[in-house]
Amino acid sequence: MITDLKTIAEQSKLLKGEFGLLKQKIKRMSVTTFDLLAHPVVDEVTKGIDCTQCGNCCRFQEPGVTEEEMVKLSAEKRMSLVDFKKNHVAWDKENVSFLCTKPCTFLDGNICSVYSVRPGSCADFPGLHRPGLKWRMKQVEENYSICPIVFNVVEKLKGIV
Ligand code: SF4
Ligand code: SF4
Repeated sequence: MITDLKTIAEQSKLLKGEFGLLKQKIKRMSVTTFDLLAHPVVDEVTKGIDCTQCGNCCRFQEPGVTEEEMVKLSAEKRMSLVDFKKNHVAWDKENVSFLCTKPCTFLDGNICSVYSVRPGSCADFPGLHRPGLKWRMKQVEENYSICPIVFNVVEKLKGIV
């Protein structure tokens, strides 16, 4: 498996066309059939990659964060909730809140310094294990160039879809 982040960033540009072909094939499959095919690959790749050696999602993502999570995170920062929101949270057009500092203010090297209270959206990333993966291929494509799990899952899927 490829885990070098620079190689993945370069390869993902070169393989963009192949990704497009994969998406077309997936479009023709049923949601259940694709989940049954993809999830064992997701499990295998996820087991083979050590996120503590990577941390790349925490450099590029803007994870969703709930009010309850903000309370815990602001306490970790020893900041008031108001100051925490002012400095580290933004809201999108739908009024959904997310951590907006890039890299994430809680990233220490490749490791999350608030692992036990990290937002649910961080724990869920890259989300390939959830049912209905077919409907999240846009998100998969966005993460293909930054996440070794996503990159390697896509590369393996090309051989079996
Ligand atoms: S809270 Fe932790 S897991 Fe989430 S983006 Fe920040 S460093 Fe990464
Ligand atoms: S989820 Fe992906 S980008 Fe994030 S640390 Fe793990 S391998 Fe790296």
